[in-house]
Amino acid sequence: MSVNCLFCKILKNEISSQKVFENEKVFAFYDIHPQAQTHILFIHRNHTKDINEMSSDAQSIADIFQAIAQFTAESDLAQNGFRVVTNSGAHAGQTVFHTHFHLLGGGPLGQFGQRS
Ligand code: 5GP
Ligand code: ZN
Repeated sequence: MSVNCLFCKILKNEISSQKVFENEKVFAFYDIHPQAQTHILFIHRNHTKDINEMSSDAQSIADIFQAIAQFTAESDLAQNGFRVVTNSGAHAGQTVFHTHFHLLGGGPLGQFGQRS
């Protein structure tokens, strides 16, 4: 846990969120500013700032993708298709420094990776 981290506060329920999935390791909730019809954030209960820091613990990466696999299989996302995005650092526009994975779907998605 990191004291001033927004997503750690969501994990501790100090800030409310709309939960869609949780298990012992992973928590998922709706993004407050959806960029797709379905826009969910998956986070690990262990605080890391970005995917490179998270990658020092390979199991935590597996925990996230197993949670996404379970959640998407139980909804219609796996059948219809979805996208997973993680932003790291300034050029990618990371604004919350608790590693998170955007799950986007619910309809056709636009092209990604364009310059802004
Ligand atoms: P980033 O830009 O760091 O990749 O993604 C951060 C995401 O967190 C943004 O899509 C933003 O809308 C979302 N977000 C920021 N604050 C809150 C909040 O308090 N609650 C929820 N549910 N999402 C948030
Ligand atoms: Zn955190």
